[in-house]
Amino acid sequence: MTSLGIDIGGTKISVIIGHPKKGKIIAKEKFLLPIESPEKTIERIQLTYEKLLKQCKITADEIDIVAIGCPGSCDYTSGRAINFPNMPLWRGYDIKKAFQKFIKHKPIIFDNDANCAAMAEKYFGTGKKISDFLYITVSTGVGAGLIINNKLYRGISLDAAEFGHMTIVKNGEQCGCGKKGCLEAYASGTSLARRAGVKDVPELLKEMRKGNTHAQLVFDEGIHALAIGIGNTLQLLNLEAVIIGGGVSTIGESYFQKIRKAAKEYTWPRPYDHCTIMQTSLLDDVVDYGTMALALSF
Ligand SMILES: [Zn+2]
Repeated sequence: MTSLGIDIGGTKISVIIGHPKKGKIIAKEKFLLPIESPEKTIERIQLTYEKLLKQCKITADEIDIVAIGCPGSCDYTSGRAINFPNMPLWRGYDIKKAFQKFIKHKPIIFDNDANCAAMAEKYFGTGKKISDFLYITVSTGVGAGLIINNKLYRGISLDAAEFGHMTIVKNGEQCGCGKKGCLEAYASGTSLARRAGVKDVPELLKEMRKGNTHAQLVFDEGIHALAIGIGNTLQLLNLEAVIIGGGVSTIGESYFQKIRKAAKEYTWPRPYDHCTIMQTSLLDDVVDYGTMALALSF
């Protein structure tokens, strides 16, 4: 089985050709997401796909399935984008139809990127040996995928595990989803930078090193927002692990130490002690692996 995987992220897009059964990425290319129409972005994906086919010396016919990770909710049957909080131009866009213009007669399947990443952990990562865990991505937004009894838990309307949109502050910061006080409005990379008045997270860290107390306060509030969400989740589900990935998590071990310390404040000792809060083992490729896991689950 050969799959074409596309990770439509909030800031970048990654296109891979993979062997899902072997858990192997054969070729990968990524590019920054231009703030342009979805049509222009799809054109760019098509060019990248054609380039990868040449690079792998395979034909379009040899691709068995197309799996797409989306940065928000999708109608998984029709293939239409519902709400990508950080990509308003995509609202209602028929992604499946756009792909069918250049990929004929192949199944095209979707899931949100956090669900893809959770499945990637389950099929290929540390999560292989763990039956109940939450995967959280802290990046442009904050998403999550919940694995219960070794299976992705989707919920009645497929909206389960929207961890980033738990309300943690009444009448708090405006969130991209339309609500106020969501966890994402404090903990995501975009929110951290916006609230600190800097360009991005690396710049925020630089300000903190310079002793900027406002930057430090914003960062700590982001950590606590995440920790409250984790604490509430552990009180509810008593999970074995919380696996964190996404751009912000690449800050490294110091980030994880702070999250663990803060999460302890919001969780009973027993569920806290039984849960490991760790970084994803699949790092930057987690959603790419997720598209392969999605292909395997088809
Ligand atoms: Zn929200």
